[in-house]
Amino acid sequence: MRQLPIYLDYNATTPCDPRVVEAMMPYFTDAFGNAASRNHSFGWQAEEAVDLAREQVATLIGAGPEEIIFTSGATEACNLALKGVFETYAAKGNRAGGEAGHIITSNIEHKAVLDTCKHLEKTGADITYLEVNENGFPDLSELEAAIRPTTILIALMYANNETGTIMPIKEISAIAKKRGIIFFTDATQAVGKIRVDVNKDGIDLMSFSAHKLYGPKGVGALYIRRKNPRVKITAQIDGGGHERGIRSGTLNVPGIVGFGKACMICMNEMEDESTRIKILRNKLENNFLHSGEADLNGDKDQRLPNVTNISFKYAEGDALIRSISKNIAVSSGAACTSATPEPSHVLRALGLNDERAHSSIRFSLGRFTTEEEIDHVVKEVNDTLEELKKSRSFIQNV
Ligand SMILES: *Cc1c(COP(=O)(O)O)cnc(C)c1O
Repeated sequence: MRQLPIYLDYNATTPCDPRVVEAMMPYFTDAFGNAASRNHSFGWQAEEAVDLAREQVATLIGAGPEEIIFTSGATEACNLALKGVFETYAAKGNRAGGEAGHIITSNIEHKAVLDTCKHLEKTGADITYLEVNENGFPDLSELEAAIRPTTILIALMYANNETGTIMPIKEISAIAKKRGIIFFTDATQAVGKIRVDVNKDGIDLMSFSAHKLYGPKGVGALYIRRKNPRVKITAQIDGGGHERGIRSGTLNVPGIVGFGKACMICMNEMEDESTRIKILRNKLENNFLHSGEADLNGDKDQRLPNVTNISFKYAEGDALIRSISKNIAVSSGAACTSATPEPSHVLRALGLNDERAHSSIRFSLGRFTTEEEIDHVVKEVNDTLEELKKSRSFIQNV
């Protein structure tokens, strides 16, 4: 018997893979040492486990282990990248004419980036927010035109969390490199789902998170390039000098071990898993799109394999999501903003009006999604749409 509710919100968070939990377990009890304890075997054991995890995390993204800084998640990694670069390099802006450092980003970034940029604006940063077209892509000639002598950083996400749209990362990094500007990408949704390689992709700084790839919550990483060029950032948390002084604080050893294990599983299983999930995703969305009563948001092709973001034409605002949400866990935009009734800033940026944005649903599938679940979701959504239509024509007829 299928279990309800059905979880289709993997872009908000994923369950831990049981293999990840198993790898973590010893580090809560027997192997509980502090990885910074240098004088006894408890410390060495913990340090060894962290070293292995650092290798595993680095391997998944084609980096070296010395280029990984563990954090409490992607939000912290985004803060560290943006604030850390601004503090280190803003002087370049000052020299170039009294202006503080200039940063280029987009208006479809996650709040972890957008809110940090807003904070930096208050402390003197100049920020350009690129707009995107209806498929969710920034215009690369606009990106080039936005570059100033004072530009110190381009910050553009790898794949959007709401639509799954994958950005032209190689083209963006080539523009940054040509102009000698650091390129940071928030790859929290991409890592573990598609092949990300910091060298092939030309990435200087990159944030990602364990709980979006079947690892535990509260652990993530910032990749920091060590050569060609060597990127320097200023620490945002001081005390103890952990993580080469860039992020102090006792390491979350079980969390980091779980993150490493989760990365290894993705490394080995990504291709097969993506193929399977994409077939289910396509089955789900084709059912809605073929009815002619639904539209896809974002790009159909340059897209993560697990996401579909759909506007339902006759759903009357959030009536559809409200009535299915007892049995189906989906999102009406970013989880972080769904507590507020405002339409998603991403869907607005794609040019959707409020009505269409409100009637949009993000379905995000994952490792434990089954075909039976997808069949159930199709049926329940279609039944609910029928009911909504009936009640509306009833209202119109009285
Ligand atoms: C989930 C997410 C974050 C935040 O990650 P946390 O580890 O939960 O802090 C940042 N950016 C994107 C694109 C995300 O999807």
